[in-house]
Amino acid sequence: MSESAAQPGIVIVGAGQAGLQAAESLRAGGYQGSITLLGDEHHGPYHRPPLSKAWLAGEVEASQLVMRAPELLARKGIDLRTDTRVAAIDRGGRLVQLADGTALPYAGLVIATGATPRLLSLPGADAANVLALRSREDGAAISDAFVHCRAHNRPVVVIGGGFIGLEVAATARKLGLSVTVLEAAPRLLARALTPRLSDWFADLHRGHGVQLVLGARIGHIETEGGYATAVLAADGTRYPAGLVVVGIGVTANDRLARVAGLECDRGIVVDDCARTADPLIAAAGDCTARRLPDGGMLRLESVNNATEQAKSAAAALLGQARAFTGTPWFWSDQFGWKLQMAGLAAGADRVVLRGDMQGASFSLYHFQGDTLRSVDSLNAARDHLTARKLLDAGLSPTPAQAADRAFDLGGLVAKT
Ligand SMILES: Cc1cc2nc3c(=O)[nH]c(=O)nc-3n(C[C@H](O)[C@H](O)[C@H](O)COP(=O)(O)OP(=O)(O)OC[C@H]3O[C@@H](n4cnc5c(N)ncnc54)[C@H](O)[C@@H]3O)c2cc1C
Repeated sequence: MSESAAQPGIVIVGAGQAGLQAAESLRAGGYQGSITLLGDEHHGPYHRPPLSKAWLAGEVEASQLVMRAPELLARKGIDLRTDTRVAAIDRGGRLVQLADGTALPYAGLVIATGATPRLLSLPGADAANVLALRSREDGAAISDAFVHCRAHNRPVVVIGGGFIGLEVAATARKLGLSVTVLEAAPRLLARALTPRLSDWFADLHRGHGVQLVLGARIGHIETEGGYATAVLAADGTRYPAGLVVVGIGVTANDRLARVAGLECDRGIVVDDCARTADPLIAAAGDCTARRLPDGGMLRLESVNNATEQAKSAAAALLGQARAFTGTPWFWSDQFGWKLQMAGLAAGADRVVLRGDMQGASFSLYHFQGDTLRSVDSLNAARDHLTARKLLDAGLSPTPAQAADRAFDLGGLVAKT
């Protein structure tokens, strides 16, 4: 596909991690036509991961969140339009309709609209200091609320013991705030981690003074003058709060695609190459659900997934099939510990420990039979990088080799 600048070019909906990557990959792939990157936020593309970590702790400047300077995008011929919301996709007319009533034609379209935090539907959940975290503005509001809580000696209650909730909890503790985490499941991070590591994270948080309640059932949020003052559990326990942070997962922003008649299943359904059923439309990042060759669906919410799918989406619009079949990876930072995950543990039936869970670093290797499926590393960057190479190459150490710190796992990759 190559269009002159005067003809419709490629339009990208969503100026986040995936949208920016798609734009840059199109140019890097030789696309000569116009590239228009439409984002409904006031800012150009920025890094979200620091929002719950260094930025919330006040350790980085807003300018450090910016992914690309506007001049660099202009030099690449990427037309970034912020404060621009796409209201609808007209596939028949090959147009995107903007919220301001105008329309933009496209020759190819990438949907990279991300996801929206799920909200609590409980009495009191609409109070002004009940906040979720997705955008810079959300982060700023939580930072301000931290200051307020500190000044008035009010505790923070986090609802949801997933990655974002726990990172917010860790940051709040670092700032000296009193924190309670209420998690409905019997363990933390249950969707992502095996029970052994969930328990380790629970100990980590408790060790740093977080009050952790597992199996929590929330009744309602008590309010006064439109502000939450406490979270009431169904068993009657009252958790006083100057701020309630809700981290109970996200919903894929797939509405535009659904209304336009594209298949959605808790996300815009794409194949390994980020293609939808419409050859002119690809999708990438948190808004997607990937159909696997065996028919199963995979939804990932990570920088790695957004970046790799966006590269595939760009390739798809350039007429190439670039399958994203590499090992998925993810990280999280809490209390000075960096968790790095490589691969997916689903189906694993054996866990092998390398290192010491009471020590300064360790990794857990998840096997299905003799096949390595995933590796979770704590402050063990080298194990993580080696694990990605092993998994990418389809290589499995034996469980005994994985457990033996003296055995050079990297040597297995070098031998191939
Ligand atoms: C607080 C936080 C911490 C995180 N930490 C980590 C981490 O440690 N490691 C990791 O791997 N991942 C982390 N993530 C996840 C990671 O940031 C996301 O997976 C990634 O940003 C997804 O990229 P995306 O482009 O799909 O979505 P986004 O980056 O969300 O971009 C989508 C953009 O599309 C815009 N948009 C939506 N609808 C429209 C419309 N109709 N018109 C125009 N624009 C629209 C949105 O406003 C948004 O700007 C974190 C996320 C958050 C929120």
